[in-house]
Formats: sequence, structure tokens, C-alpha cells
Amino acid sequence: MSKIQILPDNVANQIAAGEVVERPVSVIKELLENSIDAGANKIEVEFRNGGKNYMHVEDNGCGMSPEDARLSLQRHATSKIKLAKDLNTIASFGFRGEALPSIASVSRFTLKTRTEDASEGLEISINGGKLVHEKACGMNPGTRIEVANLFNTVPARRKFLKTENTEAAHITHLIRLYAIANPKVGFVLKENGKVLFQSPPSSKLIERVGRLWNKNLVNDLVEVNAAEVDLKLSGLISKPGIARSTRQEMVTFVNGRPVDSKTLSYAVIEGYHTFIPKGRYPIVFLFLEVDPSLVDVNVHPAKREVRFRQEQRLRQFVLETISKAFNGHNEKLVKDFRGQFTTEVIWEAPKVKEEKAMPESKPAPPKPVVLLPTPSFEQKNQIPKVEIKPQISRSVPAPKPTAVIHSAQKSEVRSKSDWRFMGHLKEGYAIFETPKGMVVLNCKGARQRIRYESVKKDLEARSAVSQTLLLPLSLELEPLVASVLEENLKTIEKVGFLIERFGRGFYRVTSIPRWLEPEKAEAFLMDTLDVFKEQGGKIKTTDLLHERIAQLVVKQTSGMGRCLHSSQAEQFVEELMRCQKPQTCPRGYPTFYEMPSSELDKRFGQ
Ligand code: ADP
Ligand code: MG
Repeated sequence: MSKIQILPDNVANQIAAGEVVERPVSVIKELLENSIDAGANKIEVEFRNGGKNYMHVEDNGCGMSPEDARLSLQRHATSKIKLAKDLNTIASFGFRGEALPSIASVSRFTLKTRTEDASEGLEISINGGKLVHEKACGMNPGTRIEVANLFNTVPARRKFLKTENTEAAHITHLIRLYAIANPKVGFVLKENGKVLFQSPPSSKLIERVGRLWNKNLVNDLVEVNAAEVDLKLSGLISKPGIARSTRQEMVTFVNGRPVDSKTLSYAVIEGYHTFIPKGRYPIVFLFLEVDPSLVDVNVHPAKREVRFRQEQRLRQFVLETISKAFNGHNEKLVKDFRGQFTTEVIWEAPKVKEEKAMPESKPAPPKPVVLLPTPSFEQKNQIPKVEIKPQISRSVPAPKPTAVIHSAQKSEVRSKSDWRFMGHLKEGYAIFETPKGMVVLNCKGARQRIRYESVKKDLEARSAVSQTLLLPLSLELEPLVASVLEENLKTIEKVGFLIERFGRGFYRVTSIPRWLEPEKAEAFLMDTLDVFKEQGGKIKTTDLLHERIAQLVVKQTSGMGRCLHSSQAEQFVEELMRCQKPQTCPRGYPTFYEMPSSELDKRFGQ
């Protein structure tokens, strides 16, 4: 017998399911796309328990004849492509003919379908890829597919599913995308029999965004519309100056399909250059129409990613479209913002040389849990940029490793400072004589370090003090952000927030920590949740939250740069040396610079 065998269909389907069906939302996506391809203008989606136990998608599309219905459950059965050459010009969503058999191989699957001219429908029921029954059924023309007990036959895959909240959030997000992309289709989304939202057909994009996303958002958006021979870009984009800390609200569609395209999103981000601060992202709902032969949608089996054949041209087109949108009726706005952001000096990480000159006094402990305030952390997390001039005069050579206080010395210093205060140099620098030579201390950076560590210590030690808001703050959160909030509610409440849920996605903040100004509370919470979403899985959110709070408190505290009082200068140094990282300020810059007398001797030829 030959060693090579053709896999039984059921096994092949389960393998394909591994590619196509990753989680509940991927099932819904496949079914939804089929319904749209079938010409439906009414689609109802329902899920229970985040889709893990039950989902259905019902449409009023063209339906299938009994013969087609049976065929649709076979591998590589598709009505959407006949010849290999059709692959280049494909315009419909699906064409691999894999989705239905794959889904049916890993669930309890029921297909009911009826064409308009048939007097009754056909129901086919499959369990884990095996036919259970086939029978006639009464129904309106269209198709209804139910998927229950997803991955029940493949427990290993079921284990990988996230919490019900997270899976539900992904489903809600997906339906919103499709509802926005398909104005002629009315969508109803239900969870456990309850309507989550309804989007009637044929409303304007701006109305749909307001209805599905957030009604306040629409004030921040402007329309774009541009066309070339075989390219068309239209939609809504945020006004200059309006930005988010993540790409979550950069929604792009190519030929009506929500997709991720690096070329497209990079071009958009580039288009916003100088209109929003570096490192932040615009909000866009952009629809690109392009000749299907110019795009390759088959890069990824789940078809989220596309590739373009004329990337440079597309990039140019997007850049011009955005620039035109801002140069038209927004001229003044643009000017204001351009001024604001081009004059801003974006802080750059200290040079490696300088960093080397200021290494930790102790070898770094193995993988510290507490996030250290490295420059990249700050940039990533959108702590507002500050203009910073190099603190060390250029004429002074970069400090050598000898400038570092070594651990032995440091512990001496800790017991009692052996720095003798000499005086001030300009505003904000204090000069000390040390056993080794001379130190220039940056008072602001040092004060910030002390404050930062004491805030963090406080946060770690006990629950923070709250202030009750006179007017509770209402939050409307994206499903994904809402699930991040719910998962971290305890952590967030521990630092002094009190947040009540009133309805899916709606929250009321009744108390906030005392250190936070009420008008900054919303921005702080939203940005923090965004950061949690992006990084939460990788690091402990408690640490991340404490880190953000400490950075904010330091930023809010005034008078950090004032001179030291001469009688307390040495005591201040002791306090600094008691910090875990006395050598750097919370932004990662050196707090002091030591020039050894040997260096002075060398300079003066002694
Ligand atoms: P593909 O969409 O790649 O063709 P699927 O496995 O998703 O593969 O679907 C197989 C076929 O079943 C489709 O080509 C289509 O003819 C038919 N089909 C699937 N869902 C529907 C639906 N909701 N209404 C009408 N026909 C459908
Ligand atoms: Mg399909």
C-alpha cells in the first residue's frame, strides 16, 4: 500500500477550519460575508455566551436550491469562481469554498435555506462534520445558519478562546464594521435574545458612524471624497488635532470589505504628519474602491489583509486626498494645528553614549516587575511631549563611567550624603563638591524622581483617596475597550475610581482619585484603557496603571524646577539617594552629572 494517502474530507475540513475558523467572530464573519454575497438586505446576527455556545446568521438573500445547499457543504464548493483566471478579478467576499464545510466540521451546524421560487426550505444538520439529518422545513426565502458548541469536538481549540466578554466584544466590533460598510443592508445584532443594536438600511455614513460608533465622534470628523480612473477614496476622517493613542478607530475598507492594509494605514498616518502629534493616530472611516485586479485579497486565509499591486500610486493618492480635505474648508484649523505641532520639539531618547555613562549603580535585578520609565515607554504612552534641551553642555565631554557613583559609594551616600553644597549654577542647577570631584545636579529631575517614587510607593502600599464628582462622568466605550475596563475594574477602582455600569458599553464614573483633576479624568481613563488594551496582556496592568499615575502626578506638580534651599540641599541629596533609581528622572534623563577631579586635572594639564 502506498504511504501517501488522500486525507478523508472530514480531516481536511478540520485542518481548513484551523485556518478559517479561529474563534466565534471568524464564524460570524464568514457567514456574514456569504449573506452579503447572496444579495441580502436584511441580516440578523445573534450570539450567546460570546458565541461559544450558540450563534446564528439569518438573511433574506437568494437562498440555495437543495442541490446547491448540499454542495455548499462540500470542500471547495463555491458559486463564486469557476476558473483559475477568475481569481484575479474576484469581487465577491468569499471564493475559497471552505467556510461552510470547515465550520460544520467543528460544531453542531444547521443550515436552513430556501430560494424564492421554492415552496419550502431545506434543513441540513451536521455535527462535528457528520450528517445528522436532512429534511424539508417551512421558512421565508433566504438562509439561516446556526452554529452551536463551537470547537466541542476540538477541545484544544476551545481552550484558546478568550472570556465571553472579549469574544462578544469582537463580534460586536465586526458587525459594526460591516454595518458601516453596507449601507443598503439593515443589520440587527442580538445577544441572548436582546437587541444590542439595529442599523437601518440606507442611512448616510455620518449617521451610521454616529449611531454605531459614538454620537459625539461625528463632530470631530470631516468628509473626504476623491477619485482617479480606477481608484476612489471616500469617507470620514478626523479633523487636525483630533487623535487617539491607538489605531483602534482607524477603520479601512477595500471594495466594501473591512481590511487591514499596511500600505493604506501607513499612507493615512503619513497624511496626518504635523496635523497630529507624532505617535498618535487619526480616526478614519475610509472606503477605498479599486479595480479588483489591482488588489490581492487572498494573502491571509481569513482575508483581513490585502495587498495592492500599485502601492506607490495608492500612497500618493491617499496623501493628496487627505491634504486636499484639510486645505479646503479647514484652512484655518489646519494652520493653527500645523503651527502647534511643527514648533513642538519631540523629545528624543538620550544618546546611547550618555545612557552608558549613567548605568544603574546596581546590576539590574532579574526582570523587574515595575516598569521603568524608559523613554520609549513614555513615547509609547503618549505622555504629552515636553520640550527638552540637552542638559549637559556640549562643550563638556560626555561623562565617562568614572562619573558614576558605584554601589559601595552609593551606600555610603545613603547613610549620609558626602556631597557638600557649593551653590547654584543658573536657575535649577545645584553644584556640590564630592569626595571624587564635582557634581552638577538638575534640581527638577531630582525632585521629580523623588516625587515619582513616593507616589508609586503610596499606590502600592494602600488604596488611594477618592473625590466624588458633582456631575458623574458618562463614558460610552467600544466593546473591546469596555471589556478591557471590566477585566481591570478592580485594579482601576483600587487607585480611587468608582465606575458603575449601566447598560452594555455605558458607564458612569462617580468618583475619581484625588490626585486627578476632574476635567482630565475622561482623557486619563480613555488613554489608560487604550494602553491596557495594547499592552495589558504583556505586563501587569497594576504596574502599568501605577506607572501612568506617577508620571501624571509628577507632570502636574508645579515648582519642581525651583532652586534648592541651601540649608536643606544635602538632606535633599540624601533623599534622592534613597530612591531606587536616583541617577535618572522619570523620563530617563540623568539627574546629576559628576566630573571627577582627575578629569579636571587632565583638562588643566595637571
Ligand atoms: P465561498 O463563500 O468561499 O464560496 P462558503 O463555504 O462560504 O464558500 O460557501 C459555499 C457556497 O455556499 C457559496 O459559494 C454560496 O454559493 C453558498 N452560500 C453560502 N452561504 C450562503 C447564503 N447565506 N445564501 C446563499 N448562498 C450561500
Ligand atoms: Mg464564504
